[in-house]
Amino acid sequence: MTVRVRLAPSPTGTLHLGTARTALFNWLFAKKEGGSFLLRIEDTDIERSKEEYVKNIYEGLQWLGINWDESPIIQRERIKEHKKIIKVLLAKGVAYRCYASEEELDEMRESQKRNGLAPKYDNRHRNLTPEQESKFIHAGKEAVIRFKISDQKLISWNDLIRGEMTWSGKDLGGDMVIARRAPADSIGDPLYNLVVVADDSAMKISHVIRGEDHLANTAKQILLYEALDLKIPVFAHTPLILNSEGKKLSKRDGVTSISDFKKMGYTSEAMANYMTLLGWSVPEGINERFKISEISEIFSFKKVNKASAKFDWDKLNWLNSQVIHEMSAETLLNNLNPLFQENGWNIPSQEWGIHLVDLIGPSMVLINDGVDQAKPFFEEPKLSNDGKKQLELDEAKIILKFVLEKLESLDASLSSKEEALDLINKATKSCSVKKGLVMKSLRAALFGTLNGPDLVQSWVLLSRFSKDRTRISRFI
Ligand code: GLU
Repeated sequence: MTVRVRLAPSPTGTLHLGTARTALFNWLFAKKEGGSFLLRIEDTDIERSKEEYVKNIYEGLQWLGINWDESPIIQRERIKEHKKIIKVLLAKGVAYRCYASEEELDEMRESQKRNGLAPKYDNRHRNLTPEQESKFIHAGKEAVIRFKISDQKLISWNDLIRGEMTWSGKDLGGDMVIARRAPADSIGDPLYNLVVVADDSAMKISHVIRGEDHLANTAKQILLYEALDLKIPVFAHTPLILNSEGKKLSKRDGVTSISDFKKMGYTSEAMANYMTLLGWSVPEGINERFKISEISEIFSFKKVNKASAKFDWDKLNWLNSQVIHEMSAETLLNNLNPLFQENGWNIPSQEWGIHLVDLIGPSMVLINDGVDQAKPFFEEPKLSNDGKKQLELDEAKIILKFVLEKLESLDASLSSKEEALDLINKATKSCSVKKGLVMKSLRAALFGTLNGPDLVQSWVLLSRFSKDRTRISRFI
């Protein structure tokens, strides 16, 4: 079988983590099987669909390294085809017009609620006589189009992840609406389940891989495939992604969009790596840190769990730090430099930049950590409480005075670690203090705090702008 899979995002929001994970599983499966991964933009909800979201979805997928084959299908452009299919269903007698008004349906649901029943359309207009129907039409009533779902029908499929699945027709909410309300001589806008079947079939999709929140839709869609004599694809329903409290990951959890993760400083490689682990267990002997291009060979739905996946920030952070630590200094600098420039910070030379990332890289978890850590090299730092205390010591003032004098006697700024170390040693000796006190006082004066990367190296970098002199002179 030629494998053709698709991602069918609705551009009603930015690319969500769950959608991106679905994309990844589709993409990995297509790669493994030598098939095609296609994209379909489901923009039939005109009011909520936006071009900027389409752009965000494309960019997010590309950033993650998920590229698609063929031009994306834009669902709204196929509306004529969708309506044609509705006509076929009407002609076959498996779909009909339902004139029940919204008020009437609300009343029906209210009464079901009062009687402790689940809300379900009671199929009241399934068998209207021609006389009844013409009465509605003459009264100018608009109609939705419904597809018949028999309560007795059992729908089964063999899910690639969940195994044998069976749904009962009676649990599908009654005859389903396939076209929005419109005048009775026309067909309103076709709805999700109908258009998905029409498009998946037209795109020759062999496997539909999507979130398990679509299980009931799959049952409904199988009925449509059967009614239209279309080939039914294979289905695979991926587990949901839950937050740390075990609830479905939602906007309330803060970051859920791929573009937000990017803004926070996560790398595309760590994101793609982590998302693959959300539901998929690596086979024994395989490291959990991988590039997605490396694992398509071994990806299989057999190892995708049925149980929901819990989002684990610690694991994502660990993977991100691994990716950062594996980067060459040049690559890390290339990632950071645009962010430096956004802040108006210019590195004095490539060599200086490389030294800087060598210094701060090992403690970075997020790309943005590099910005926080580089900040005191470009902007005067705020004095922390412990830094302040340190600088209030009498010895600190003596030490700083000594160091400043020495710095001023130099022709240029500090040029090497050795030179800086030599100065520290001289200060220790001349001021008759412990070396630790010299180091702490210098660190506080230069960087405002008592913590940070290697002091000697940091000092040499800072000295390149002669900022060491101005900073030390503030505390004398
Ligand atoms: N537009 C649907 C969604 O975003 C697609 C579901 C499907 O894959 O069929 O949930």
